[in-house]
Amino acid sequence: MARTDVIVLGAGVVGVSAALHLAKCGLSVALVDRRGPGEETSFGNAGIIEGNTYFPYPFPLKISALLKIALKQAPEANYHLSYLPRLAPWLFAYLRHSRGEAMFEFAAKMRPLFAASIEEHVKLMREAGAERYLRTNGWLKVYRTTAAFDEAGADLDAIAAAGIAFERLDLNGSMALEPGLSPVFERGIFWPQAASVSNPHAVTRAYADRFRALGGVLLTGDARSLHRSDGRWRVDTSEGPVDAAQAVVALGPWAPDVLDPLGIRLPLEVKRGYHRHFRPSGNRGLNRPVLDAEVGYAMVPMEQGLRLTTGAEFAARDAPPTPVQFDRLMPQARALFPIGEPIEAQPWMGRRPCFPDSMPVVGRAPGQPGLWLDYGHAHWGLTLGPVTGRLLAEMMTGETPFIDPAPYSAERFG
Ligand SMILES: Cc1cc2nc3c(=O)[nH]c(=O)nc-3n(C[C@H](O)[C@H](O)[C@H](O)COP(=O)(O)OP(=O)(O)OC[C@H]3O[C@@H](n4cnc5c(N)ncnc54)[C@H](O)[C@@H]3O)c2cc1C
Repeated sequence: MARTDVIVLGAGVVGVSAALHLAKCGLSVALVDRRGPGEETSFGNAGIIEGNTYFPYPFPLKISALLKIALKQAPEANYHLSYLPRLAPWLFAYLRHSRGEAMFEFAAKMRPLFAASIEEHVKLMREAGAERYLRTNGWLKVYRTTAAFDEAGADLDAIAAAGIAFERLDLNGSMALEPGLSPVFERGIFWPQAASVSNPHAVTRAYADRFRALGGVLLTGDARSLHRSDGRWRVDTSEGPVDAAQAVVALGPWAPDVLDPLGIRLPLEVKRGYHRHFRPSGNRGLNRPVLDAEVGYAMVPMEQGLRLTTGAEFAARDAPPTPVQFDRLMPQARALFPIGEPIEAQPWMGRRPCFPDSMPVVGRAPGQPGLWLDYGHAHWGLTLGPVTGRLLAEMMTGETPFIDPAPYSAERFG
């Protein structure tokens, strides 16, 4: 029987970052996953470290937008009809949390995490020798029409008042930043307080290597084997059972597989999303991530090629992939940038683990002594993995947390 101080379940960017922070505090840590580090959701995101985020992703309210989604014509969202009855209560809660006063509550509670997100990555990247993946040149959102730009502008006063920098750009200003784009849009907003990485998987792997260099142990095992034994937490791995006084569930979309049997039922759903890499056509390139705001996809230069990522698909976590959004967005994407042949035969699918208030749970598991939670990072797991890892490690080791962790408690769901 191997014995460690802490078992961390899940080696996505969230679990790896938590394990690394715990190891930096001098604890012995076993990080357990059934796959290699960063091979699930953390593999294929858009690579944006969204230090500029202020409001949650809005729920569309305009009838025209809803109708387009309902008729399955919207590139920005898709759904499986058979899943909607089960999803309905979550969707209504999400709607409540993504408008009006609730948006400002989200901003007040989440801003401390977003504000520290780039700095926390930079610290880990320096230690892990991963700075070569980092771009600190912000991201650009482009708007095909001035009307859509004006609509987006409704939130900008509050964002400016919070001290978040951005620049409203016309076509020429946007093209000066990204000369590779074709002039099929009218306006842009440049967000300098965002960074991005050229290979999210490599960044997670570099953090895992750093964890190992500090004495952390990476093990293959099924997190669903977690159970109490002699007052400690125990999990089965290919190296035999491991036990620890404390365990962390950082399983992202799969956290309920372990927590439901323990009686911890929190309202997690997934927003599925896809990516596909394309070869450039000609010699144009992009310097940073570009979001085609109205069409609802991102175009990001990655080591693997030009990565196009889609918006949300509402469907069961384990239902077969249905990457239909690509058919809807490709004509628009090709008009914005000269895209060549796809690199993979099929798009990759990931699952954003989302609570209805768009905030992660970071803290103690209710009713289970020694069990901790770090999951539900939604659209921002890459952004927030290191900063929530630090917060969790501070809570677990009894240090004074660098920010108030109360808003991220599981107790908020009652
Ligand atoms: C298309 C797309 C674009 C995105 N773009 C961005 C972006 O630009 N910026 C950003 O910040 N975020 C982005 N995100 C969100 C981000 O990728 C996620 O929030 C993040 O990856 C979640 O990380 P995680 O570690 O919680 O989950 P995961 O990376 O999914 O890790 C969970 C781990 O648990 C393991 N696991 C599951 N079940 C078991 C089991 N039974 N036993 C053992 N191990 C198990 C899995 O193998 C996996 O390694 C995007 C997501 C998508 C889908």
